Amino acid sequence: MPINQQSYAYGTQKSSIREIAAYAGERKAQIGAENVFDFSLGNPSVPAPDAVRASIEKSLALPPTQLHGYTPASGLPVARAAVAASLRRRFGEDAARAEDVYLTCGAAASLSISFHALLRAGDEVIVIAPYFPEYRVWIEAAGVTCVEVLADQKTFQIDVAAVERALTPRTRAIIVNSPNNPVGSVYASANLTALADVLRAAEKRLGIEVTLVSDEPYREITYGVEVPWVPALYGRTVVCYSYSKALSLPGERIGWVLVPPTSPEHDELVGAVAGAGRKLGFVCAPALFQRVLVDCVDVPSDVEAYAQNRRALTEGLTRLGYEFVEPDGAFYLWVKALEPNAQAFFERARALELLPVPSDSFGCPGWVRVGYCVSREIIVNSLPAWEKLAQSYR
Ligand code: PLP
Repeated sequence: MPINQQSYAYGTQKSSIREIAAYAGERKAQIGAENVFDFSLGNPSVPAPDAVRASIEKSLALPPTQLHGYTPASGLPVARAAVAASLRRRFGEDAARAEDVYLTCGAAASLSISFHALLRAGDEVIVIAPYFPEYRVWIEAAGVTCVEVLADQKTFQIDVAAVERALTPRTRAIIVNSPNNPVGSVYASANLTALADVLRAAEKRLGIEVTLVSDEPYREITYGVEVPWVPALYGRTVVCYSYSKALSLPGERIGWVLVPPTSPEHDELVGAVAGAGRKLGFVCAPALFQRVLVDCVDVPSDVEAYAQNRRALTEGLTRLGYEFVEPDGAFYLWVKALEPNAQAFFERARALELLPVPSDSFGCPGWVRVGYCVSREIIVNSLPAWEKLAQSYR
């Protein structure tokens, strides 16, 4: 059948995160949800803030044609202005203007739009491994090559020397994801500055203009660590944001792309972002949730529940002798598998109803990702299974 083979492959070879989540669903139906320790998906366990509900209820009073109608492709001017004003309050007067903000259906759309706006056939995009597996799908869908560069395996900061070695005349973008999924690391200012210096030098040496695509859906979920504002360190940056995690709205699909005023190709890129949204058929971001942004753009995320989960999980696993990377943000724990083969370790865990995600699909061997956006009971009740798993290796 003359169908698109790339799409067929993406539709039939599911991501291992989704496969494990589907398996968890089946297992819960068989033995009861409380007996399955499902750490697979990054679906927030914290409810959306009350302010979101209040804003929706307020919007419901609008005439339906207004409430449900198309908005401009880039978003309602009032919503774009609200986002830009919030960014200026947080990151300085030069951070953003309303016309720099393009509202999207979440970070997935923000990234796809950015890639289609920036990239041309033959380009290469660097991802820092371990990385969110969907990056490869979106990069390859834009018809370009995904190049993996391993993070520093001790600190899980960007290995700037390794990035420098991976640069070629075709390198056009690097995805920077901080706070990071799957590791939970936050890239320090000094680390990003070192990367920026290397890219500026490469501009002279190789004649390439590399854009940092800063993917920031976890920006608000941190544990006492500042997340640097990347455009302040490197002007040639595009910021991709989402309210999926910050306001616990992953099913509603709302986020934005920012082409900051610092971007040397600003006006052209703003045009290309609009063109990419059009080309990909997004039309506009969900109208109701654009209105929610106007009211909720500065509503703080409820980080405390994740902070408590993080404590319960890290204390429990430390007691049992597991090694992991202490997370500075997001809601994932990157735990060292007790054998080099993460898939084999996962199979032993699965036999005990423990369902983390093995690291191979994140582009890095020997670890598992444990998503702690779950109830506290699941974490506490999973500890005996983690103990049995560790014992099975003694
Ligand atoms: N980027 C990262 C690092 C993610 O973890 C996710 C979702 O889990 C996304 C992007 C996509 O998020 P969204 O729901 O906003 O499309």
